Amino acid sequence: MALKTTEAVVLKAFNWSESSRTVVLFTRDKGRLALTDKGGRRFNSRRGRLIPFSRLEITYYDSQKESAGYISDVSLVESFSLEGEGALGRLAYASAACELVFHLLPDGQVQTDLYRYFITLLSLLDKVERQSLPAVFLTFFIHLLSYLGYHPSLSSCPGCGRDAGELTVDGSVFFCPERGGGICSACQRTGEQYIPIPEPGYKLLVQLQRAPLTQAVSLSMGYGETTLLLEALIKFVGYQTDLKAKLKSLEFLEKLKDSNNTS
Ligand SMILES: [Zn+2]
Repeated sequence: MALKTTEAVVLKAFNWSESSRTVVLFTRDKGRLALTDKGGRRFNSRRGRLIPFSRLEITYYDSQKESAGYISDVSLVESFSLEGEGALGRLAYASAACELVFHLLPDGQVQTDLYRYFITLLSLLDKVERQSLPAVFLTFFIHLLSYLGYHPSLSSCPGCGRDAGELTVDGSVFFCPERGGGICSACQRTGEQYIPIPEPGYKLLVQLQRAPLTQAVSLSMGYGETTLLLEALIKFVGYQTDLKAKLKSLEFLEKLKDSNNTS
């Protein structure tokens, strides 16, 4: 087996004995990569720790076979402590981002630009003002979908191309998770599911799709608006992929709710 080095962030770890586990990483050079971590959980391990929400340099033995390669060494490049004001919220959004990438990024698909975008997200979740967290996370979520080929059609009706500014009916835009956009009244079909989003919220969603992460920092959103937009995006993902059951969306929405109440 060849010894290789890459930068990576831990997405998830599965313990299978007291000392060993499988670690799923988002690597800069290889995309999503699962590696065996033998003995890394022992207290006396001399190796660097697999600190979550951090840029790590991972040295590993690559495997050409079906079984995973294994980690040889770990060193810390940059750590995002997420300990600022509203720490629970920062942690909930960072965990949700890792969960989304874990479920949506296919194994072995190299995504260098997305990796950089993900690092920018972690860095912003660590340092921005608390009120910017929802807009920053939602912007990441929408762009993550586009990076992975599930671009939602937010700025015009997916049925006829009518501009997003002309989709409002009784103060709301009817977002269709199946077609991934706001549907104008002429294109609505009986039996199709819609999530009514109040016009200001939908306009914000369109704005977030166009915004770079650093610009999303200046947008602040309420909790109710955030959960509604998250729900719309999660239902959309459910239609585009077979991951509906795997995404513990409700669980992470609950976490956000808790952090909103207590931190
Ligand atoms: Zn239409």
